[in-house]
Amino acid sequence: MKILLVEDTRAVAVLMAARLSALGNEVKVAENGEVAVREFTDWSPDLVFMDIEMPVMGGFEATSRIRAYEATQSWAWTPIIFLTASDTADNLVTAIEAGGDDFMSKSVPEQVLQAKMKAMARIAALRERLSFANQKLNEQANRDGLTGIANRRHMDILTDVAWSEALRKQTPFALLMLDVDNFKKYNDHYGHQAGDDCLRAVATSIAATVDATNTTGLTENAFAARYGGEEFAVVIPRASEAAYKTLATSIVDAVRELGIAHEKNADWGVVTVSIGGAFLTVVTGELAAAFRLADSRLYQAKERGRNRAELT
Ligand code: GH3
Ligand code: MG
Ligand code: MG
Ligand code: MG
Repeated sequence: MKILLVEDTRAVAVLMAARLSALGNEVKVAENGEVAVREFTDWSPDLVFMDIEMPVMGGFEATSRIRAYEATQSWAWTPIIFLTASDTADNLVTAIEAGGDDFMSKSVPEQVLQAKMKAMARIAALRERLSFANQKLNEQANRDGLTGIANRRHMDILTDVAWSEALRKQTPFALLMLDVDNFKKYNDHYGHQAGDDCLRAVATSIAATVDATNTTGLTENAFAARYGGEEFAVVIPRASEAAYKTLATSIVDAVRELGIAHEKNADWGVVTVSIGGAFLTVVTGELAAAFRLADSRLYQAKERGRNRAELT
């Protein structure tokens, strides 16, 4: 286990660190609570041994800061064992109240130390399994089942964050609404299964195009999501108008260049998308208005022949 040992008395720290290392643990020593909080966030230990009285920041304060930090993480819980000079009932109660999980005398007999370590190792293993499962669940909750890109739920959360930031910092905000052209005919002609495969390929192409503009620095943190059915959305925070236009036309081109046969799609003969966009130099009003603007331009793009982006 990775153990953070927080102890200001050098002699105690050296002795305890040696005992814990001898049991096969990786040990880091922090000489006060402030250093402990920093080490905790940087190193993510499996277990913390915490002295109570220390200069700069004591053990109770450090524990409540560690617990506050853990509350900001998606899922985290690390056992904290207080190191006390004596095993009194008062010490136990205070330690648990302060957010600790157990307490242990600094002069703990070897057998007791080993037994406690065994129990904590079990908890650490369980914590790791739970944390992994939780991460997987979070990923699944954010992904669209068919295409694997962000789903509507995740998009709504990310969009709200991007919109609030744009409002606060008075930075630009851009949005694209995308819709596959004549997709009902595609399903009717090629079948629903082929329709699903097509949506997967289109989604992958849109997401890859967005990722590429992030990578080249044309955009930062732009993201694509499946909005619903055969509709997708792209949100471009802090974008220049030039980047917004380049990204939109790149997506139109990228999807057409996939070359997925679609006999019933007018003259194109391949699957295409139409895009309506909204670009706001400075964000004002409601996010819903930006969606309405992009939507009405998407309608125009359809009216004007499809396989195109209407952006201004
Ligand atoms: P337009 O160019 O005007 O957008 O025409 P369209 O045929 O694409 O528009 P419409 O909204 O009439 O049709 C959308 C079709 O998308 C209808 C629906 O069956 C299909 N669709 C929506 N979600 C899925 C899906 O998950 N899989 C498949 N295979 N088809 C889907
Ligand atoms: Mg001390
Ligand atoms: Mg549609
Ligand atoms: Mg459509």
